[in-house]
Amino acid sequence: MMLEKALDILKKYYGYDSFRKGQENIITSILEQQDTFAIMPTGAGKSVCYQVPALLLDGVTLVISPLISLMKDQVDALEDIGIPATFINSSLSVSETKKRIYDVNQGRYKLLYIAPERLEAPDFNHLITNLHIAMVAVDEAHCVSQWGHDFRPSYRHIASFIKQLPQKPIIAAFTATATEEVKKDIISLLKLHQPNTFVTGFNRENLFFSVVRGEDRRKYVIDYARNNRDQVGIIYAATRKEVENIYKDLKQAGLNPTKYHAGLSTKERKQNQDAFLFDDNPIIVATNAFGMGIDKSNVRYVIHYNLPKNMEAYYQEAGRAGRDGEPSDCILLFAPQDIQLQKYMIEQTLLSPERKKNEYAKLQEMVDYCYTPNCLRKYILEYFGEENVPDACNYCSTCTDDSELIDITEDAQKIFSCILRLKERYGSTMIAQVLMGSKNKKVLEFGFNRLSTYGIMKEYTEKEIKDIINILVADRYLRLTEGQYPVLRIDEKAIPVLKNGEMVYQRVQKKKEILLEDNNLFELLRDIRKNISIEENLPPYIIFSDQTLRDMSKFCPTNSDELLRIKGVGENKLQKYGELFLEEIRAYMEEKGINPDPIPTEETSTSKKKSTDKTPSHLVTLELYQTGLSLKEIAQQREISLTTIQNHIIQCANEGITVDLDSFISQQYEEMILMAINEIGSDKLKPLKESLPEEIDYFTIKAVLAKYK
Ligand code: ADP
Repeated sequence: MMLEKALDILKKYYGYDSFRKGQENIITSILEQQDTFAIMPTGAGKSVCYQVPALLLDGVTLVISPLISLMKDQVDALEDIGIPATFINSSLSVSETKKRIYDVNQGRYKLLYIAPERLEAPDFNHLITNLHIAMVAVDEAHCVSQWGHDFRPSYRHIASFIKQLPQKPIIAAFTATATEEVKKDIISLLKLHQPNTFVTGFNRENLFFSVVRGEDRRKYVIDYARNNRDQVGIIYAATRKEVENIYKDLKQAGLNPTKYHAGLSTKERKQNQDAFLFDDNPIIVATNAFGMGIDKSNVRYVIHYNLPKNMEAYYQEAGRAGRDGEPSDCILLFAPQDIQLQKYMIEQTLLSPERKKNEYAKLQEMVDYCYTPNCLRKYILEYFGEENVPDACNYCSTCTDDSELIDITEDAQKIFSCILRLKERYGSTMIAQVLMGSKNKKVLEFGFNRLSTYGIMKEYTEKEIKDIINILVADRYLRLTEGQYPVLRIDEKAIPVLKNGEMVYQRVQKKKEILLEDNNLFELLRDIRKNISIEENLPPYIIFSDQTLRDMSKFCPTNSDELLRIKGVGENKLQKYGELFLEEIRAYMEEKGINPDPIPTEETSTSKKKSTDKTPSHLVTLELYQTGLSLKEIAQQREISLTTIQNHIIQCANEGITVDLDSFISQQYEEMILMAINEIGSDKLKPLKESLPEEIDYFTIKAVLAKYK
């Protein structure tokens, strides 16, 4: 009965048809007034688990969440679907705080978000004495444990805060961390009373995991970002310096990145984060300071430029990809030097020896992930305690390995011999210089030019030789010693190569683009979303997710009822935005002469859209234009959007019909557009538009393209 009501709420507010695996059990447990402990991976949909019950419980739900900067986002998203929520944190003035508390006391809100520090503020307890708190939802509950990866001392105050409330609320704790110590800590330190514990599947089917070893990472990142230039991505690096370097590289490559690390001012960080959230800068290069609680749903890839410190951190960061359920990439670029960097970072902490040992062990498991010859998904899921995981997922870099194997045996042998000749006492620079036959002072001074291995790889540059050395280290033929001046040593695996000529291969992965259906209507709907986002100052993904737009562009709903059946469209959003999107969809269908197919219910699937055989819409527009009407007048008369009418004109021109395009292009713009086309090419409109002054619209750009076709 209660669950039915919960389902109604899910449909009405969120526009989803069913609960996901796990959500249903968690919600039932909460509604049965049980303390509830849920372990679910990032992106599995935990917010719904406490937000839906919050609406059904009598009183208010207090949500304790660690990141002040994101509360506004979470509350905005709730308000946008019509759920009354607010937050209180240090960003508000005293009077605003009082006002909000007053409103909460008046029962205006069902959810109140606070940071844990608030619980220690002397006035807070006083202000909420009369409040009926039905539930306390603790987000990122692992912050209570010093074994977790984001320990927050103020989480330790949650239990005592709850204890002094006049009525014990339901406690619901959520985390993505599943290690035993952390689980135990959460239950005992939050004083959960006989909690129902749920571990929802850790699998995220739409994420493609890959590990790339021994490649030139800078080049890899630039190539990848270029190949996927319209996609949203996060690139994580270990240090500020590295973030700055990658950021520069991407900028130089003509891409549009932003950056985030603790060395930037608060203002800059906020600005950059917003630019990313609003899709103004689709790529963000960041240290792990970025991202906790980021629920931007259309992140198509997360690249780790450096090795993360452990699997928990990795899965959380990588899990920020693909929350909308669309195919997304999680790529880890592995270089063995990073192990040392992580060890150094562990050494620098003030952890007890016992905890340091624990950190080292976790780091080792992270390294093992980079070397496993088996299915990566299986490795991850088993790490998080899942059982009966299939041996192959067919959706990771191991299972789908179609990389080319290049024979590098001879180069490897030369490198190994050179290292042995130099008695395993030098690093990769010296080895490379000797092999290429460098006349460097040191090389000559030491008399290395007399060695038999001197100059035996002179057809290579120093960097090329070092790249091969990196591959050999990454594949464990060679080992780098620790310390400030790492020295190359031969590992056991190299011996049969030297002695018996065992083969050594380099794997070269095929270039990959994220495959999403190409669809013009989707782009048009995205533009509308962007306009609303600017007007309402809300990130685009809060308005509708990419997946919702994609479904709209696929099923072409033309009225409110049909639109409501699209996943992600609830009643509130229908009312606020429905007509804007419907108008564009209708216009598009008319333009293309598309007859809509029925929107499939869960069971049925779509068939191809059919065409009608009336006079093509663009020719109707052309006729009206030739009678002397302006494009705007035609749009009004035909009740089609201006954009569509403009597209009709371009379509005519592209089909070779004479249209006076010059009347749409001012000469001054024409030159600028031509220059931009020269520079960036004409394959994609968006980068062109972005490189030009704001006032030049898509239509003018398309007109110039059509003119010079
Ligand atoms: P997390 O567990 O990381 O907090 P979120 O609560 O942000 O995940 O949810 C991830 C995404 O899944 C969001 O876009 C959310 O709207 C969507 N989602 C959650 N529950 C459902 C559901 N039952 N059906 C469809 N989408 C859902």
